[in-house]
Amino acid sequence: MKKKNIAVLGSTGSVGKQALDVVRAFPDRFEVSVLTAHSNDALLIEQAIAFKPEAVVILNENLYAQVRDALAPWPIRVLSGDAALTEVVTLEQIDIVLNAIVGSAGLRPTIQAIRKGKDIALANKETLVVAGELVMGLAMEHGVRILPVDSEHSAIFQCLVGEANAIEKIYLTASGGPFRGKSKADLSAVTKEQALKHPNWSMGAKITVDSASLMNKGLEVIEAKWLFGLQTEQIDVIIHPQSIIHSLVQFEDGSLKAQMGLPDMKLPIQYALTYPERYPNTFPRFDFLSYKALTFEQPDLDVFRNLRLAYRALEDGGNRPCVLNAANEVAVAAFLSDKVSFLGMSDIIEETLCQINNAYHLDLDDYIAIDAESRRVARDLIK
Ligand code: NAD
Ligand code: MG
Repeated sequence: MKKKNIAVLGSTGSVGKQALDVVRAFPDRFEVSVLTAHSNDALLIEQAIAFKPEAVVILNENLYAQVRDALAPWPIRVLSGDAALTEVVTLEQIDIVLNAIVGSAGLRPTIQAIRKGKDIALANKETLVVAGELVMGLAMEHGVRILPVDSEHSAIFQCLVGEANAIEKIYLTASGGPFRGKSKADLSAVTKEQALKHPNWSMGAKITVDSASLMNKGLEVIEAKWLFGLQTEQIDVIIHPQSIIHSLVQFEDGSLKAQMGLPDMKLPIQYALTYPERYPNTFPRFDFLSYKALTFEQPDLDVFRNLRLAYRALEDGGNRPCVLNAANEVAVAAFLSDKVSFLGMSDIIEETLCQINNAYHLDLDDYIAIDAESRRVARDLIK
């Protein structure tokens, strides 16, 4: 059987590393032809020596020479810079591009890969938040599958297998993060160390802060709209602190289907890579008696304003989700360097949305320009 050929973008991150664990578990099914990283040259080199891809990209050009020299003994092309990222996804042999880059930097390579007819395993939710309409339209035009890696969306996707029936609504589950149940007063002085302690998942810093502020769920609501073609009113969020039910679909006869399992990203990563098949693996199994109660709560949109801002951005449409995302990326980076408070992040996002006018029917260059402008506005607000 021909092996499935994968490009792993963001291979040194949390999802990227787990994706390579999945590849390692199925050596006769998968082959890796591209690895990319922003700045972790040591890990990129180690991964390249282990997987012998055709090409690697180190985004940070200052690190190019050392990666090239370290990989000189092998026939591996070493590239650097943003343009290289869009170039490597076009390699002939690639069957599927796993996009595990963090942030809107993932948009251009996703679009380029779609244009070349490559299926996409999408962890980079920002791609769909920024330009969902454009991306889904292109995927349709090029006959490309967008396979969700995000656990909630993988759950919905799995619930829909074999269903030609309309969706009444979906429920995206959220753990609630480390600040579940807190008041605004409680959150006024929380530190990045507290925000970075997620109860159930170990992830990159940006998505961990987004999980604490519920912006992650807001981005996922937008992601779900585009992946599954839903109206905003059809997407509900329910807090489920145990993270065992990964999300649910409700059909028009009232039947609910849920997808469940231990919180482990390797499963949705594997499913995106093997769909429509399920490969047998030895990852840990769920044990009912270790989870005597699965519980549910309403999210508090007054305390966690980001979720409300995201719903509103989705409802207003146009460039709003792109502005929301860019301002959030700047706000999270500022929070992680102690320049903005936890609650201050929502103020920056809201004010950036106020300062930039909405616009509709955008192309890729428009989105990239709006993303850059929003970042400038958000940075000025922080100064
Ligand atoms: P991470 O910070 O651990 O890793 C990010 C990867 O992207 C790294 O390899 C880094 O080198 C690369 N990168 C960073 N900035 C870049 C840039 N400007 N250009 C190119 N590459 C860049 O992040 P993560 O937690 O692995 O998350 C990756 C994506 O997957 C995010 O969109 C996140 O929302 C999504 N996601 C993550 C998880 C999780 O469990 N970590 C779960 C669901 C969805
Ligand atoms: Mg998720």
